[in-house]
Amino acid sequence: MLVRRSFLLLYCLVALLALASGSPIFAQRTPSSALPLPDVTGSEIAAPTVQIIRLDFNPTGSGRCEVTLTPWPEQAKQAVERAAAIWSTLLNGSQPIVIDVCWSTFLNQDGTPNLGLLANCGSRTGAFVNFPGAPLADTDYPLPLANQLGNTDLNGSDPEMQCRFNASRTDWHTSVDGIVPADQFDLVTVALHEIGHGLGFEGSLTWDDGDDSEIECNNTLGVGCYAQIPAVYDRFVQTTRGKGILTFENNSTALGDALIGDALVFEGVNAKVANNGIAPRLHAPTSWRMGSSYVHLREDTFQEGDNRLMTPNTESGIAIHHPGVVALGMLKDMGWEIYDLSRAYVDAGNSGMENGGVLHPFNTALEGISAVPAGGRVLFFAGDYHENLTISRPMRLESIQGIVRIGR
Ligand SMILES: [Zn+2]
Repeated sequence: MLVRRSFLLLYCLVALLALASGSPIFAQRTPSSALPLPDVTGSEIAAPTVQIIRLDFNPTGSGRCEVTLTPWPEQAKQAVERAAAIWSTLLNGSQPIVIDVCWSTFLNQDGTPNLGLLANCGSRTGAFVNFPGAPLADTDYPLPLANQLGNTDLNGSDPEMQCRFNASRTDWHTSVDGIVPADQFDLVTVALHEIGHGLGFEGSLTWDDGDDSEIECNNTLGVGCYAQIPAVYDRFVQTTRGKGILTFENNSTALGDALIGDALVFEGVNAKVANNGIAPRLHAPTSWRMGSSYVHLREDTFQEGDNRLMTPNTESGIAIHHPGVVALGMLKDMGWEIYDLSRAYVDAGNSGMENGGVLHPFNTALEGISAVPAGGRVLFFAGDYHENLTISRPMRLESIQGIVRIGR
């Protein structure tokens, strides 16, 4: 059954916080252990294709990019396109995802430019619940995912997601090379993170600060609350003691305390498999941070390593061009079709369907190296790949037959 409600946008308000950093320009890490090899051929038979993601830069009109400072710099557009291309190698939905991408001015309450924020993003939600194909009843799926699960474009030509990037900042690294100066923020990394929110890293839980200016729950300091129809993300959140977050009484202090107790996990089968059998910890600091708490992996747990893309803070001088297997496991739990691409196949001669499996390999080296996590393998069919590659995490490139030439 299709239930239409008001159309709204959920934002991750504080997406990534700028931190002063003395990090090296970029350091490669050696893989801690070899990744298990999946049965790629078995899982790809029903695969639709590489996920199509279309970007609409600075669209105007009601509900679109209302405030834009300047036109998108061309190189910045290419960085966001690269982030979308990375996601497209990892997701395998049949329905295109359309994203409004805004080069926006963020303002503080006093009207001055907000320079601390890098970007924010959210899917369109709340419009379609209990649609045919929905795995869970009375659950709000982000529209990019709802469309795949329903195998139809539920919202027609409207965009599924909106992401805004801070045009006032002057410290963006907009090249796609992954070689980031120590005092700059990598736009590919930030865009990859933000799109991750719109794909599923968003929930309905919030905490009330008791301040009248914006009423989060019932305007009582310290209570927590959730939407009448919760988000699919909410369905997987538990305390470390195993109590589902939605089993707390709504608008209660007990729920509020749980949200700021630094003891929340994402209890999903695939997330646990990707995290060595342990439910990944979520960011739940002891003071609530709107747009940051609850919808990220825990900073202290995932600060280092290959799963840090979806933590709430980022540093200048680093490039993270893969979401990490934990975030992918979480998205899989929420309903996304994702292949375990710890190995990806590439064949320059493939002009048909592509999903990185041996039957339907990617046809560019770039797609192959974008798809695998750190420690992954990219297996090339013989041929010439006229591409220049920058690889910014450890991986193995192998020929599975004959001579492979990469380069222009
Ligand atoms: Zn974020």
